[in-house]
Order: sequence, then structure tokens, then C-alpha cells
Amino acid sequence: MKRLLDELVEKNRYLAKKGKVADYIPALKKANPEDLGICVIDMKEKIYTSGEYRTKFTIQSISKTISLMLAIMDNGAEEVFKRVGMEPTGDAFNSMYKLEIEGISKPLNPMINAGAIVVTSLIKGKNSKEKFARLLNLFRKITCNERLDLNEEVYISEKRTGHKNRAMAYLLKDMGVLKGDVEEVLDVYFKQCSIEVDCIDIANIGLFLANRGKVLKTGEVVTTDHIARIIKTFMVTCGMYNSSGEFAIRVGIPAKSGVAGGIMASVPHRMGIGIYGPALDEKGNSVAGYGLIEDLSRKLNLSIF
Ligand code: GLN
Repeated sequence: MKRLLDELVEKNRYLAKKGKVADYIPALKKANPEDLGICVIDMKEKIYTSGEYRTKFTIQSISKTISLMLAIMDNGAEEVFKRVGMEPTGDAFNSMYKLEIEGISKPLNPMINAGAIVVTSLIKGKNSKEKFARLLNLFRKITCNERLDLNEEVYISEKRTGHKNRAMAYLLKDMGVLKGDVEEVLDVYFKQCSIEVDCIDIANIGLFLANRGKVLKTGEVVTTDHIARIIKTFMVTCGMYNSSGEFAIRVGIPAKSGVAGGIMASVPHRMGIGIYGPALDEKGNSVAGYGLIEDLSRKLNLSIF
């Protein structure tokens, strides 16, 4: 396996040239576009790594999987899905087009920013500090990494420049879907996106979902099989934004990407995969990461379909 990963990382590295590091959050610009790393953890807890798998990056949209999990655990699925839908959008992750133009009553799904902001508003806690602390604690449990924390620079950078997310949140407030103080909700959202991880951490998240909500290492049942399944299903239908359909055909693995270049993937009952490659395609997915996971899926026959 190690040799295969080394081979595929080298094969796909050149793809980074076709992409671009995200710059709409100024602090993300510092990433090295040529980095490409992968970590695979199987059900026997064997860890295989290659490339720049130790490089730290912010989790960004990959956090939407675990914030959704916590919101469902706190409120029940029925309450959550009164405020956010279950359908793919076909629009960019940060689009607010459908919210306004078509006058729908709630964001289409929890994996686009509008839906994720609503989901974050549903996390319980007496203030934003406590809400984020609960979420971070959950991430630490799932990744078995007590040191997991916020990247302060990215958090501040996004909080200062997240005008579109702010506009969306106020629109959602006006629509009556988002409850509570808008700035407090946004603060938790910006913080959750700024959690700093590496490929091993996100592979552990994938493994946890592959293991149906139970942390393999500690044996702790963090969530139910049912909730883990909901998350993986959203990863299939909406996890790669408006590339999710093509990704399902070419790769066929539940996966979630983030604009810092991470891809977290979960092969049910088999493995968790964490990939990092900051150069993104036009839809916001890691371009070399996409190539790498497509090759890996073919070689190991990982498609769930
Ligand atoms: N923090 C980012 C944003 O809200 C997350 C988006 C992403 O990773 N696609 O714009």
C-alpha cells in the first residue's frame, strides 16, 4: 500500500499546476500549491502515508460534516431538517442565488455555506464560546488528537473578510430560518472552519464514519449508526459541492472537501482517507487530490456503487 500511495502521489503532483490556491480568505494564500499528501487508515488501524501528509491546513468545509452530526445529536434529525433541506444544489458552495431569487424557505442542504451556517446555529451551548468548545471537543475525540485547535490567523482573516457569509447569515435571519444572534453564529462557523488539521486527522474522521460512528481506537460510540449514515449520504450527494455527481461516477466514495485543499473520504467498513493538496479547481476542490483519490479508488476498487 505504501508503495502504491507513493506512486500515485508522484503521478498526480503535476495536476496542481492546473489549479489555484484559494485567496478569498487572505491567510489561505500562504499555502504551497505544490504540496500533495495522503493518509489512509484501515479498519485494523494500520496507517499508510505519503507526500506532505504532515503539513497543517485548516479543515474549512470538511467541518460541516461534524457540525451537522452535533446539531442532529442535539436536536434530532426532524428539527434540523425543518431548517435545512436534503437536496443537492448544482450551485457553488457559497452561492446565495437560490435563497433569494427563488424565494425558498430554507437552504437546500447542510454542505453549502448557507445550510452549514444554519446547522451551526442549532448547536447547543450558552454562548458561542461554549458551542465551539463542544464542537472542538467532538473533533478531538473523533481524531484522537487532544491537541487539535484553532488556527488563529485563518480565523481572524476569515472573520474580517467573510462578507458574503455574513450577508447570507443576515438574509437567513430575515427569512426566519436562523435563530439567535447572527454574529455569534458566524463566530462559531468561522472558528469551526479554522480548526487546524493534517491528513492523519481527517483520515481519522473518515475512519470514524466508515466505522459507523464509533472511534476505532478508543471504542467510544460517539454517535449512532443512523446519524453516521446521514452524514455519509450527504457526502455522496453534496460533499464535493457542484462536482458531487461527477465525483460519484469517477471516484464513488463518500467524501467532503474544503477550500484549504483537504479531502476527507470514508469507505464504509474499509478505511478513512485524508488528502491535502491546496491548489483547487474552479469548483473549489483540490485538483491533485481529486486525481489522487480517483486513481486510488480504481486501483483498490473502492467505489461503493
Ligand atoms: N470557510 C469557508 C467559507 O465559508 C469554507 C468554504 C469551503 O471550504 N468550501 O467560505
